Formats: sequence, C-alpha cells, structure tokens
Amino acid sequence: MSHSTSVSPAGAPGALAPDNDPWDPIDALRRYGRHRLTSVEMTVSNLCNMRCEHCAVGDTLVWREPGKLPLAHMLRRLDEVEHLQTISITGGEPSFAASTMKDYILPLLRYARERGVRTQINSNLTLDYDRYEPLLADLDVMHISFNYRDADDFHHIGFARSPHPPPREAAARLYERMIANARRLSDGGMLVSAESMINYRTHLHIDAIHRLIVEMGCKRHEVHPMYPSAFAADLPMLSREDMAAAIERLLASRDRSVWMLFGTLPFYACSASPSERELLRRLRETEGVTVRNDPDGRNRLNVNLFTGDVFVTDFSDVPAFGNIGSDRLDALFERWLGSELARSVSCHCPAADCCGPNLLVKEMYYRETDFSVRQAVL
Ligand code: SF4
Repeated sequence: MSHSTSVSPAGAPGALAPDNDPWDPIDALRRYGRHRLTSVEMTVSNLCNMRCEHCAVGDTLVWREPGKLPLAHMLRRLDEVEHLQTISITGGEPSFAASTMKDYILPLLRYARERGVRTQINSNLTLDYDRYEPLLADLDVMHISFNYRDADDFHHIGFARSPHPPPREAAARLYERMIANARRLSDGGMLVSAESMINYRTHLHIDAIHRLIVEMGCKRHEVHPMYPSAFAADLPMLSREDMAAAIERLLASRDRSVWMLFGTLPFYACSASPSERELLRRLRETEGVTVRNDPDGRNRLNVNLFTGDVFVTDFSDVPAFGNIGSDRLDALFERWLGSELARSVSCHCPAADCCGPNLLVKEMYYRETDFSVRQAVL
C-alpha cells in the first residue's frame, strides 16, 4: 500500500491519506489490542429531496420530521466517549433544513475541531452552494454518492423511489449543481470523497464513473458492492465474480493521483478461492489503494438524534440496543461487543490487516461459516 497520496490541506497534522484512515477499525484494534468505540455517527435528518434507488435508509425518509434531542445532550454523550477519533453526520440529506445546519451540524463540527476529532458529512450536494460553504472551515470529508454516467442516469437512479419524480430538465439542473458544488469545495481545499456502488447498473461502467469523479476534483473514490438493505431488497444481485471483474476494471483504468478506498468487500484473506485472495493481495499492495475494514459495530455506533436510539448501523436491519437518554455510549458499545451477533463476526488476522466480515455480508454469503476458526492464507 502506498503512503504517498496526501489529501488534506498541505501541512495539516495527521493528513487523511491512504496510511491514515481513522475511520478504519483496524487502527484502534492495533492501538488498544481490542475493539474500542472511536467513531460516532449521528442521523440528523430524515428529510431528502431525492429518493435514490439504492438508498440504505430510504424507508425512513419522510416529508416532515419531528424535533430533535437538544444538542447539549448529544455533546455531553460525545464528551464521555474516551477514545473518540471521528464523527460522521448523516441523514437523509443532513443539510436539507437550514436550521439543522445552523443549530446542529456547524456546532458539532466546531466541537470536533476543538477536540481534534475528524469529521465527515454524507450529502447529495444538490442544494445551493451557500448551504455548503460554511462547512469549509471545519469539515474534513464531504462524502457524496456518485453512480452516474450522465444526467439521465442521475434522473433514473436518484428519483427511482419518488412518487413524483421531477422532469428530466429539473433533475439535470440538480446534477450539474452537484458537480459544480463538488468542484468548488474541492478547490476550496475540502476532501470530497465520492462513493460508487458496484451493482447491476454500474459494474460494466465503473471506469467511466471513475473518470467523471476525477474530473469533479474529488480526491478520493470510495467503492462498495451493493447489498440488499430493506429499501433496496428487490434490486438484482451481482455475483462475486462480477464484483471482482468490476474491481479489476477499476484497478486497470484508475487515475493514480486519486485515493481508491474499497469497503465491505465480500471476500477475505481466508477465502478458499485463490483468485479472490490474489485480488485482495493486489489491492493491499497497490499504491494509493486501501481496503477499509467495516466500522459498523467494530469502532462505530449510530445515534438517531430524533429518538436517542443507538444502532450498530444507520440501516434498519439490526434493532436499537440502547438509548443515549439513559446510557453512556462507551457502555453501550461494550454491551454490543458482548452480544452473540457481534461475536459471530469477531475475528482478526493481523497479517492481512483484516478484522472480519460485515454483518450483512456474513448474512448473505457466509451464513454457515464460523470465522472464529478461519485464518488468513497469505
Ligand atoms: S480476520 Fe476473519 S474474515 Fe479476515 S481473513 Fe481472518 S478469519 Fe478471514
């Protein structure tokens, strides 16, 4: 793996880079010898102007939402997280309501900056630039989804679940605005990281999508296979072979100045398949390419700011197992680690930098596999 691609403002201490990804749970596992809560994700909005085909939280989106918990309460709970390294802010579209931006997002980012905690927002970047500009001061990573070859793809995919999709021209204006916003924020020094899903629509065109992401000025391209969450359960599934072929296509055509971050892959270094192990080896050894271990439940919890409920992911598959009204986040994390479900994916092969499968991946492809008795084959 390369350690040369740097993507934070020049001179910033601990610049986010392929060798410095504090969202990866392997980081805390190496440091503390066990999983620790270092990352808290907060759901601050259930509103969104889009209804994407692949949206993992699409079934929770609403047109009107209730009030949120007081920010002071959330900040107190963050203060108690002893080893906090990163926070992520997600939705819906977190910036959809100006009041959420002003009263929650900007204060959370300031808190994080003062504490030396890194920050990410997941946004569709389709609102006016003015909505995003205040983020330049304190946000580390602007994370967007990008699965499109053109405005027509954006129109079809971005409003696939909308009861009243906008006309093509209106969607095209949003598409152009997203691209302009990404470019402007990148020019302003922000790390804009575009995520693509490898799915039935994108796998044959993933190289063309990559080129557009590079042209938008994004410094990182994050790539995940798409798995059926509640909202996307009826979409066609890709085989592991097709996923591997799409990854090969990307490796062959990628722009080497852009950090490629792969995540939630369905293959591991303990695989019985030599070709899957070989692909992982290439990913590990290719300059500017990383494979992030899955953070859900390994170093991260999700807090829903409307209810205070705490989840292991922001998807709805695993029910809430606590609430910040009554519990500290570190205590809830320990409770989660002791659960049968957490134990079912808890393995660690240091030589492969791997700490086990994602919960959804295990459920889909490895239901009968006991990872506790497997070992990386290097
Ligand atoms: S940590 Fe688990 S999933 Fe990863 S290679 Fe080892 S046994 Fe396989």
